[in-house]
Amino acid sequence: MGNSLEDMVEFDLRRRGITDARLLAAFGKADRKAFVPALDREKAYEDRPLQLTHGQTVSQPYMVALMLQELKLQGSEKVLEIGTGSGYQTALLAELAKEVWTVERIEFLATTAEDRLLDLGYKNIRYRLGDGSLGWPEGAPYDRIVVSAACPDVPDALVEQLGEGGILAVPVGDPNGQVLVVGVKQSGVFEKRRTIDCMFVPLIGAQGFAHWPEQQQKDRAP
Ligand code: SAH
Repeated sequence: MGNSLEDMVEFDLRRRGITDARLLAAFGKADRKAFVPALDREKAYEDRPLQLTHGQTVSQPYMVALMLQELKLQGSEKVLEIGTGSGYQTALLAELAKEVWTVERIEFLATTAEDRLLDLGYKNIRYRLGDGSLGWPEGAPYDRIVVSAACPDVPDALVEQLGEGGILAVPVGDPNGQVLVVGVKQSGVFEKRRTIDCMFVPLIGAQGFAHWPEQQQKDRAP
C-alpha cells in the first residue's frame, strides 16, 4: 500500500500486528529501496515480493517481519541466514542482532548484496558463496538460523549448527507452497511447530531440492 518507507512500516506492518518497536525501527532504517532492482524502485514500498535476476525475489516486507518476529532478537545474537538474495533481510538482521553470517549460492547475487551492504556501512556481516543447506559450520553454534528459501524438510545440518536455546525458522514444503516451521533447541532436542503458510523460491542444495523445478523455471523465466 505504501508510497513511502514510513507508510510501509505503518500500514503494512504496524497496523497488521507487527508491534515490536525494535523490529519496526529496523524496517524504518534498512530502506528497501536500496535493495530492489533499479526498474522497480517505485514499487520498493509495496508489500509484495519483487523479482531479482536469476529467477530470485526480494521477499515481501510483511512476510520478512513475521519471520523476524519469530526470531525474538534482542541484539546480542549471532545469526546465520541462508539465501542472501538482495541482502534486504540481511540488513534487517544486521540492525537487530550482533552479527550476521549469510550464505548465497548464486555468485552474482552474493557479490551484489555484499557490495551494497558494505556501501550502506554494515560492518557486522560475514558473507559466503556456497550451499547454505549445509549451513556454515565454521561459525557454529548460532543463536538463530533463518532460511529464506523453501526446503523439503528441516535441514539436519542447520539443526546441528543451532546452539542451545537457539531458534530456527525455515519454510518447509514443496516449491508451490510451504509452512513456516519454527523450532527451538532445548537440552539438545529440537522442538518444532508449524506457524503460517508461506511461499518462497526453492532452496537448491544437498539438503534442499536437487534442482530447480520445471514448473517454477517456466513461471519465473524473465
Ligand atoms: N531474503 C532474500 C530472499 C532471497 S530469495 C531477499 O529478501 O532478498 C532466496 C535466495 O536463496 C535466492 O537468492 C537463492 O539464490 C538463495 N538460495 C537458494 N538455494 C540456496 C542454497 N542452497 N544456499 C544458499 N542460498 C540459496
